[in-house]
Amino acid sequence: MKGEENAPFIEVVVNLPLTKLFHYRVPEHLKSSVEVGKRVLVPLGKRKVTGYVVGVAQKTEVSEIKDVLDVLDDQPLFTLKLLSFYKWVSDYYFSPLGWVVKTALPGNLSMESRQVISPTEEGKRYLALKDNSPAMKLLKEASNRKEITLRSLLKSYRGEGFYAVLNRLEKMGLIKREFKQVRTLVKVKKEKWIKMDEEGYHFLQSPDHLSSLKKRAPKQAALLSFLGEKERVPLQGIKKEFGDCDRAIRGLEEKGLVALEYREVYRDPLRGEEVMSEDIPQLSLQQKKIMKKIKEGIASESYTPFLLYGVTGSGKTEIYLKSIEEVLKQGKEALVLVPEISLTPQLVNRFRARFGDAIVLLHSRLSPGERYDGWRRIRKGMVKIVIGARSAIFAPFSRIGIIIVDEEHDTSYKQEEKLRYHARDLALVRAKIEGAVVILGSATPSLESYYNSKIGKLTLLSLSERVGGKPLPKVEVVDMREENSSQKGRNKELSRRLKEALSERLNHGQQSLLFLNRRGFAPFVTCWECGYVFGCPNCSVSLIHHQKGKNLKCHYCGYTIATPDYCPQCGGMRVQLLGWGTERLEEEVKELFPGAQVARMDRDTTGGKEGHKKVLKRFIDSKEGILIGTQMIAKGHDIPRVTLVGVVSADLSLNFPDFRSSERTFQLITQVAGRAGRGDIPGEVIVQTLHPYHYSIKASQEQAFSQFYQEEIKFRKELNYPPFSRLINFKMEGNSKSKTAAFAQKVGTLAHTLCDKKSRYRRDIEILGPSASPWEKIKGKYRFQMLIKGSPLTSLRSFASHLLNQVPIMLREDGVKFYVDVDPVSLL
Ligand code: ADP
Ligand code: ZN
Repeated sequence: MKGEENAPFIEVVVNLPLTKLFHYRVPEHLKSSVEVGKRVLVPLGKRKVTGYVVGVAQKTEVSEIKDVLDVLDDQPLFTLKLLSFYKWVSDYYFSPLGWVVKTALPGNLSMESRQVISPTEEGKRYLALKDNSPAMKLLKEASNRKEITLRSLLKSYRGEGFYAVLNRLEKMGLIKREFKQVRTLVKVKKEKWIKMDEEGYHFLQSPDHLSSLKKRAPKQAALLSFLGEKERVPLQGIKKEFGDCDRAIRGLEEKGLVALEYREVYRDPLRGEEVMSEDIPQLSLQQKKIMKKIKEGIASESYTPFLLYGVTGSGKTEIYLKSIEEVLKQGKEALVLVPEISLTPQLVNRFRARFGDAIVLLHSRLSPGERYDGWRRIRKGMVKIVIGARSAIFAPFSRIGIIIVDEEHDTSYKQEEKLRYHARDLALVRAKIEGAVVILGSATPSLESYYNSKIGKLTLLSLSERVGGKPLPKVEVVDMREENSSQKGRNKELSRRLKEALSERLNHGQQSLLFLNRRGFAPFVTCWECGYVFGCPNCSVSLIHHQKGKNLKCHYCGYTIATPDYCPQCGGMRVQLLGWGTERLEEEVKELFPGAQVARMDRDTTGGKEGHKKVLKRFIDSKEGILIGTQMIAKGHDIPRVTLVGVVSADLSLNFPDFRSSERTFQLITQVAGRAGRGDIPGEVIVQTLHPYHYSIKASQEQAFSQFYQEEIKFRKELNYPPFSRLINFKMEGNSKSKTAAFAQKVGTLAHTLCDKKSRYRRDIEILGPSASPWEKIKGKYRFQMLIKGSPLTSLRSFASHLLNQVPIMLREDGVKFYVDVDPVSLL
């Protein structure tokens, strides 16, 4: 144990929802290999489990201390700096450290241990006896294979009293039971290579040998000459070159001229992908000023956080690239977080064009093998740049120089299950621990971040203009109330103005985007006679009709039924499909513009690993037509020929029962509008809404973030919402509505009592609820919540831990799941 050679005990966390640290004794023979950051196999109750060593101790209060059984790693999986990061995360999110470690490491690393049975020498001798007792049967069974797991032995044993017999055999010393680790699920991948042998080179030197081989076995000769130049080649590669050549290779191998070997390879999703080269632009004056400040931060080698607020197309990505260049010069590493990496192939391409192959991607669509190998390359220091989705914040770099969070306002940085962390916030925390620079970048910063720049927690850097002086697109708002009353007939969801504009673009061979943040055909299906709405039996949402499968689907739990043609309530025969989703929009647009190229990009059309990329690429290459899509089309794409963006309904996000709904709406419209006019022709945006005078619509019309911020911050202040307070949401979920409600009530009573007794809490804390969540039921679970709002943060946190300490006592009885969401993003 480095520096702690004499520490007799270690602290271990396990991947269980337990906040406890476990202490173990380190037996003499493991002392040299135990180290913080390694996995160990430890006994826990009757089981043996994988634990992570998180500390050492000179003494322990545990009376019956157990021994560590084994050390599972040669090298630590995490550094001490990462460990202090994990500890911060565990503490802040009220989440067990074992969970944090598990989340931070790639999946399938933990070993399972199984009980394995095998006969002893004595037992083997016993087998010779003629005996038909149950014990003998079991012994025979256990001796059929070299070893057998307890589980399979139990299955194959035909007699009675399995465990009693087993225990007797063990006592008699005829069998032994051991715990063995079973394989990790992801393995290091090896590839077959052919390597030239010394003999082979000698052979090539001799013209006689070679010419005779050419006559007898021309393929062998050709192979050998080829290898002579390359030294070693992967078998796959040689097959590409020479076709099937197994026999020739065997021939050479038998002659001792070449040898086969296995080499470790890293599964890399980027391998073999072409990179489009790019010119490196000269920085604009604004960009240069910004770079100067960032460079100072990088040179200082200490925590320096920036908010880079730059309108769409203002050259933020170029700033990222230049900053990373600086960091690499220092020999340090760069971590780049993006909202959804599979949606940003263009960004990845730009990074690769600049930095080549020293990049690893980390995101959820990778195969376990790819993720594992990416992680190992980072850990071994083989790569310097990681681009990844939120979980990449845990990338095991050891010398981080910069963390970049692109589109920092994006909600996908928040993980909504198990460990409920916010990667943007963690970027700041990790950078502080590492002494690194952070850049949070966005065209529509979150209220929290912008506020933080005002109070000096972040340094604001602004890019107020598009590159090359290109104008921002002109935004026009169409009042759909008026439109609905004056427009007759079909496709009333598209205003006359938007239809005109679309037709104009089609005539001029320019491209358009149509944004509608709802997939499927019709979001509401109702009975024309009694008004019955088809809802999901498992979730409190309506079912959505999909034309393709002629079915009704729940977008939360996947519940699907064939779309009925009568009403289950009144038997009425007129079922109506109300409202539009992207599928219907596509159909209507095709009908309006026969012969036009119309494509759609949403979850239904982009299956598979490369789905988005394909749809997007086809649209870009076709250079014409209309692309319809959900918020997938709003993200960072750069499609030069798009000159029109239509927002079919701005009201979907505006009507969300959430205090951030205005902010979401402003962000969505501004982002999707930012896709227009990135080429040479100025862009135009048409926004359809029933609330044309709402401040978030008006601000997005002006594309004026500061105007929006001013209105929104007033509202936040008035109601004491973040950034003026912090939130912690306590959530309860259960199968029974009454039990869950009763449980929520108890938690509520506890909270209110706590708040009453301690006057300091009463001043600082506001308790909202408990009450049913806006979506009361999802996936068959009833949901209740209690929102705690408060400031200062220390007071809120102390209140929460007070409460949390008391809840587990009453937890088990009701079978209700109870969890905490710190800084919640979704309150539905
Ligand atoms: P953002 O990330 O703010 O949307 P980008 O960095 O993608 O903006 O820049 C938009 C486009 O302008 C890109 O094609 C980029 O290569 C180009 N660009 C960026 N900076 C410059 C510059 N200083 N001179 C010329 N072109 C630039
Ligand atoms: Zn459902």
